[in-house]
Amino acid sequence: MDITDFKKSEILANHTSWLVGGPAEYYFEPTNKEELRDALIVARKESLNVTYLGGGSNVLVSDDGVSGLVISFKKMNKIEVIEDNEEVYSFWADAGVTKSELLKIFLKKKLEPALFLAGIPGQVGGGVVMNAGVSENIKPREFGEIIQGLEVLKPDGTIKGVKANRIKWSYRNCDGWQPGIITRALISWPNKPVDNILEKVKELNQARLAKQPLEYPSCGSVFVNPHPHKAGELIESVNLKGYKVGNAQISEKHANFIVNLGGATAQDIRELMQICIRKVKAVCGVELKTEVKFLGSR
Ligand SMILES: Cc1cc2nc3c(=O)[nH]c(=O)nc-3n(C[C@H](O)[C@H](O)[C@H](O)COP(=O)(O)OP(=O)(O)OC[C@H]3O[C@@H](n4cnc5c(N)ncnc54)[C@H](O)[C@@H]3O)c2cc1C
Repeated sequence: MDITDFKKSEILANHTSWLVGGPAEYYFEPTNKEELRDALIVARKESLNVTYLGGGSNVLVSDDGVSGLVISFKKMNKIEVIEDNEEVYSFWADAGVTKSELLKIFLKKKLEPALFLAGIPGQVGGGVVMNAGVSENIKPREFGEIIQGLEVLKPDGTIKGVKANRIKWSYRNCDGWQPGIITRALISWPNKPVDNILEKVKELNQARLAKQPLEYPSCGSVFVNPHPHKAGELIESVNLKGYKVGNAQISEKHANFIVNLGGATAQDIRELMQICIRKVKAVCGVELKTEVKFLGSR
């Protein structure tokens, strides 16, 4: 492999749920960890910075794009079942397996993780990094509860297993595996089928549709909830619901969502974020922190 195997100037807006972002200088979609490792060797030789993109549902990519190499995991999407017996159902899922694929697997087995996975976009790798989950009082309700271990490609090119007891899960965060890249996750849940799981998932999807502006491109919640508050309620309380900058808007439906009305730029979205942060701090005295990750130069 060499630098000519990477695509040039791939538009990243096409790879994010906000549909926002400029080009990647170089872009590559490895199909397995050997190709991933080879791509990193080329990047090192060519002195390219490397940026990782999962499903792009929790990132704001700069309008100027990202210099260096962007690696997308979308073609690393294999599943390997390890145990399927009366006790447990467990499998390795590559970083690029989509959460909708996980949802299908758990729905087929009628197992409870289907409930929290319903409606969360993105991939397994991004789900682990973000400890993606829901606030509903269900079990499990976030990634940390279904992960038994991780496989990580370390900066020196070795692959290391990280056991569940080394991983520290917290609200929308996961530590204990860095530095490196998550290549796959060992997912496991007691093999005890639940009645009416499909109906329950449909109900949860309906509830999401009623609360969230799913008709517009977004990245879900922009800010983490600053305990004990809800970010959306704080933003609503300072009358910013519906506020626009360019073609980006603080959703009328859910104030912690910034939606792309069509043709919004990363700059529009960033300005809206700053307005929320400033106004909530000034009026409520609470510091909002972004859940979204920024890729590329600001
Ligand atoms: C409509 C909508 C609804 C949403 N609802 C929810 C919700 O209910 N709950 C929730 O928690 N989130 C929600 N989100 C946010 C988002 O879907 C989650 O955070 C998701 O887990 C991000 O996964 P991703 O694959 O898209 O990651 P990305 O957005 O692509 O990446 C997130 C971060 O992880 C890093 N990363 C990705 N893969 C790897 C890897 N393999 N190794 C190392 N680093 C990696 C990236 O560099 C980036 O820093 C929602 C988003 C949308 C658009």
